[in-house]
Amino acid sequence: MEDADQLRSLGVDLSALDPAPPQTPRWDAGTERLKARHPCLLCGQPSSAVGIAHTPGHGRRWVGTCMPCLVATTPSGRTGVSLTDTLAVLREAAREVGAVLKIITDEA
Ligand SMILES: [Zn+2]
Repeated sequence: MEDADQLRSLGVDLSALDPAPPQTPRWDAGTERLKARHPCLLCGQPSSAVGIAHTPGHGRRWVGTCMPCLVATTPSGRTGVSLTDTLAVLREAAREVGAVLKIITDEA
C-alpha cells in the first residue's frame, strides 16, 4: 500500500507520514523502521510491514501497517496470498485484541 491515491482514499494525511530516506538501497532503513514497530497508520497497532510512498507534494514518506490492515487494503488478485492464509491472519488479529470473529463465506 504505497500508492498515494490509495492512501488518500483511506483517509491518510500524507503530510503526517514520516519522511523516508531519499535514496536506494533502502533495505537497512526499512529494517530499522520495522524493528521500531511504529504504529500502523490505519489502526495504531504496531506495524509489521513498511514501505515508502511517493507522495506528490510531500516526497517520499514511510508507510507502516499491521498485517491485518495490509491484507485488508491490498487490492485482491495482487497479493498471491491464499484465502486460508488471509483468514488465519484475521483470526490471529482478532485473538490478539480479544475480539469475537465470525467469518461467513459462500463455501459450504
Ligand atoms: Zn492496522
